[in-house]
Amino acid sequence: MNVLIVEDNSNDRRLLRYTLEHHGCTVSEAQDGEEGLELATRIQPDIIISDALMPRMDGFNLLRALKANPELSSIPFLFYSATYTGEPEERLALSLGATAFVVKPTEPENLWKKICAIMESQKAQQGVISQPAMDENEEHFLREYNRIVATKLEEKVAELEEAIIQRKQDEDELRRVNAELTLEVDERKRAENALKEQEQELATIFENAPFVMLLLDGERKVHRVNAQACSFAGSSVSDMIGRRSGEALRCLYALDTPEGCGFGPHCPDCIVRLTVLDTFETGQSHHQVETRLPFLLQGKEQTITFLFSTTKVMVAHQAMVLLSLQDISNYKKLESQLHHAQKMESIGTLAGGIAHDFNNILTVIIGYGDISLMSMDADDPLRHNIEFMLQASRRAASLAQDILLFSRKQICDKKSVDLNEIVRSVDKFMRRIIGEDITCTITLDDGTLSILADAHQLEQVLMNFATNARDAMPNGGSLSITTKQIKLDEEFIAAHGFGSNVMYAVLTVTDNGIGMNEETRLKIFDPFFTTKEIGKGTGLGLAVVYGIIKQHDGQITVVSKPGHGTTFRIFLPLTLSTDNEIKVNSTYDKPDRGTETILLAEDDESLRNMVLSLLESFGYKVIIAVDGEDAVQKYRKNMKQIQLLLFDVVMPKKNGIDAYNEIRDIKPGIKVLFASGYATDAVQLKTLADDNAMFISKPYLPSNLLAIVRSMLDKS
Ligand code: ADP
Ligand code: MG
Repeated sequence: MNVLIVEDNSNDRRLLRYTLEHHGCTVSEAQDGEEGLELATRIQPDIIISDALMPRMDGFNLLRALKANPELSSIPFLFYSATYTGEPEERLALSLGATAFVVKPTEPENLWKKICAIMESQKAQQGVISQPAMDENEEHFLREYNRIVATKLEEKVAELEEAIIQRKQDEDELRRVNAELTLEVDERKRAENALKEQEQELATIFENAPFVMLLLDGERKVHRVNAQACSFAGSSVSDMIGRRSGEALRCLYALDTPEGCGFGPHCPDCIVRLTVLDTFETGQSHHQVETRLPFLLQGKEQTITFLFSTTKVMVAHQAMVLLSLQDISNYKKLESQLHHAQKMESIGTLAGGIAHDFNNILTVIIGYGDISLMSMDADDPLRHNIEFMLQASRRAASLAQDILLFSRKQICDKKSVDLNEIVRSVDKFMRRIIGEDITCTITLDDGTLSILADAHQLEQVLMNFATNARDAMPNGGSLSITTKQIKLDEEFIAAHGFGSNVMYAVLTVTDNGIGMNEETRLKIFDPFFTTKEIGKGTGLGLAVVYGIIKQHDGQITVVSKPGHGTTFRIFLPLTLSTDNEIKVNSTYDKPDRGTETILLAEDDESLRNMVLSLLESFGYKVIIAVDGEDAVQKYRKNMKQIQLLLFDVVMPKKNGIDAYNEIRDIKPGIKVLFASGYATDAVQLKTLADDNAMFISKPYLPSNLLAIVRSMLDKS
């Protein structure tokens, strides 16, 4: 049997062909009505099975065209449609002359049965051509056809509209989901950015932390380092990363052994290793542990004292330990210098205290000795004994003076002095300091270099210079000290930024020692700056010098070159040689007597008694007080008679200055003579600023005391 399939759907065609061929048919295929008509004309099939809805020419039109052709009109036509399935469609098809109308899909076997039935009945009515039942009225067909197609179209349109609505809904849903997704993506981006920012912040903190920081991974290798770590080790980041921690830091122990500070027990009981291991194992942090380790830094072995801390951190799900170190070698050095300076300070205080008591004792000895001498005949055989005693006492007094010089508790006593005299007075002492390997040349100006100065302080300046010169010339050398007077010219003043057109005394101290570089030179006057090892230098010497020179309205310059020695120059303004000191009778010839009443305040009993008997033996009336408070009380009681106060400065309960201040408030213009072995600046200021105050330093000669007392009482 020859079957023509007219069908636009290739799947349907294939299925149909399969069924038909299975039953032994020969099958031809056409994709639409036009092709079907053409094929049918050509091959004259036994039966045509046609779809209804097809492009170009549909099933109805194909059927009409077949029936219009006498040669083809007798071929049975099976209408096989999934689209046109209603009764009107079936009616139209049958009216057009279709043999049968089958709704798609139909079981292949049922379809086959239908075909067989058609062929059977075709055979039975051999010759009778199945003609269209309805009359060939064109108008009728078109009306029916249009109605069907229109209905179909309406259905299709409705279907499409529904599909469009559905699609719109789908699109809305899609848009909603899309918006949600976008939101989610934005959210995630924001979170990512925040994370990035946080990471950057942390990295900035890590980078700029003022201590060495290393992040160590589980294998004890360096995972990350900061800039401080690089500058500590003198290595680049890439040099350090991936290395064993000790090796990266250039710890000598780690460098010595190939496994060193991969944290194995290679190093001698290294506390850093043990601590880091503990933090890895227990998660416990350790803070500010202090230790010392040797490192190889800038090609030099250096033992560094440092504080270190360890903390466990998770980095990308990996346990790591953050190790931070802080080099405190410099702090340690400063600390020990401070300790040393403090020790010196307390030794000074102690020595000063001893010297003070010593002075009181010596004043008594010298006083009684002197009084005895005064009342002895010139040829008294015992006179020599007393003179020897006094000589020895004066030696002791000068020793006490040295102690006070060292303890910086000496009286700050600006007087008109000769600079040359000061240099001469320390000559011997200085040579003892510098030792025999250093030759010392002193060249003094011919005239008198009169300056207003505290001789003891200037002596100290010279001592400090000498000590530094000695340290600068460990293998010997030469030290030269010169004095000169100069007038500073404009050029000098402009170049040095100090000075005026007055005359200056210049003290120059030159050594040919190791000298110093510019960096050192700029810092030498800073307190605690020293280049010397612990115990050798306190860094206070030149700071003290600087302070003293400033106090004297002076200036100091320094010229130095490494290997070429150092020259210090001190400029002190010259004064006219005024004699503002009280002329003291230097012979033992009887000092003048008096009748006035003196209030004597002195806490040292034996000294008090000595002065009491001295003053009384010279006619004075004496009221005694044992401390400052007692002095004020005694003054209130005896105000009318008392004409002079003779006060010790350092006394219990109330010191001499405070007692004087109170009394002065009661009686302005009261005269006071302070006596002390050492005194604070306050005494200095008081005596300088107050015309009614004078100062005498212990130990003093009774004759000196009497002379000053007399001259003060005589001054109106
Ligand atoms: P110290 O002597 O205790 O170190 P100083 O204040 O006296 O303290 O001196 C500070 C520093 O100045 C010394 O450590 C040294 O480096 C330098 N210095 C001082 N005098 C000299 C000198 N004559 N020659 C070379 N360097 C000197
Ligand atoms: Mg010094």
